Amino acid sequence: MTPSQDLLTELVKKESVTPEDSGCQEMITNKLIPLGFEAEQLDFEDTKNIWLRRGQTKPLFTFLGHTDVVPPGPLNEWNSPPFEPTVRENKMYGRGTADMKGGIAAFITALERFIQNHPDHKGSIAIMLTSDEEGIATNGVVKVVEVLEKRQEKIDWCLVGEPSSDQKVADVIRVGRRGSLCAKLTVYGIQGHVAYPELACNPIHQFAKALELLTTEEWDQGNDYFPATSLQVSNINSGTGAENIIPGHMDLQFNLRFSTELNETTIKSRVAAILDQFDFKYEISWRLSGNPFLTQPGELISATHQAIQEVMGYEPKDDTGGGTSDGRFIAPTQAQVIELGPLNESIHKINEHIDLNDLENLSKIYEKILLNLLT
Ligand SMILES: [Zn+2]
Repeated sequence: MTPSQDLLTELVKKESVTPEDSGCQEMITNKLIPLGFEAEQLDFEDTKNIWLRRGQTKPLFTFLGHTDVVPPGPLNEWNSPPFEPTVRENKMYGRGTADMKGGIAAFITALERFIQNHPDHKGSIAIMLTSDEEGIATNGVVKVVEVLEKRQEKIDWCLVGEPSSDQKVADVIRVGRRGSLCAKLTVYGIQGHVAYPELACNPIHQFAKALELLTTEEWDQGNDYFPATSLQVSNINSGTGAENIIPGHMDLQFNLRFSTELNETTIKSRVAAILDQFDFKYEISWRLSGNPFLTQPGELISATHQAIQEVMGYEPKDDTGGGTSDGRFIAPTQAQVIELGPLNESIHKINEHIDLNDLENLSKIYEKILLNLLT
């Protein structure tokens, strides 16, 4: 087994279902301390976070990752137990192999080789790990960034080892993410007997036209880096279960994935403008789960393109698709942030896996990126 496979095996064996870390961070810390890293544990409530840094000068390059994984789901559907990493046909199976213990194993081994060969590299290197990325993410990276910001410790370049790849490893790097804004809406009517509609007011009927407008609205047309903003309704609930009652209210949830053409305030006022065209009473509450961010072309993106070209022989595509990640908490500090990691086809699924060649290639790419930026 290669060092990356070894480390990945050890990490997957630890059942770190979010927000558990199950000793992953301690294991990594023990590997990095002898290489000259200083460790700072920054735990908040049930979440374990660690900040490991080598060197005090600028620029500061940071690998960002999470040690927690999503639950395995029904164990009997797995071809091998999710926390007993198993290799079949050159792929390692197990929960977290792709999301994202594979990325972590690849960057730790890349670091080991890089520091061995370049102990006097320029600038500094840091690792930030959290055990709460897959959960609500309120005590993880967001809190660690607050600590760093308070003492003016600035990350220049941040590489998130999340599974970004599509068809082959490193064919896609994420250079930004759409924003995500969630809404909970209650539309009020008057409950009554279906036989006496004149004595009631049906919130479902009332809302039907508004729903049409909300879901056909052209929010924007996107731009060079982002697809057009979209609104998706995720839940509609109304009714008492009885077939002869007009319900008194209707509850709805929807989410907008939005581009840098829009912001939270504009979206809220445009939604209000649609809803206010109608007579019904409503209440709406919002939760912003992340603003959009975009890393402009610069040192980090060039160094990454060059590294992928050298190791794989092809150019990656810069992309802003996919869900949110912890990169959203780093980007507002003005750091350049990208995501580059394994294939994402099996993440969060039964029989999650990583191709072992991909794992080695990723580790080589990460090492080249360090070479390009810090020597
Ligand atoms: Zn992940």
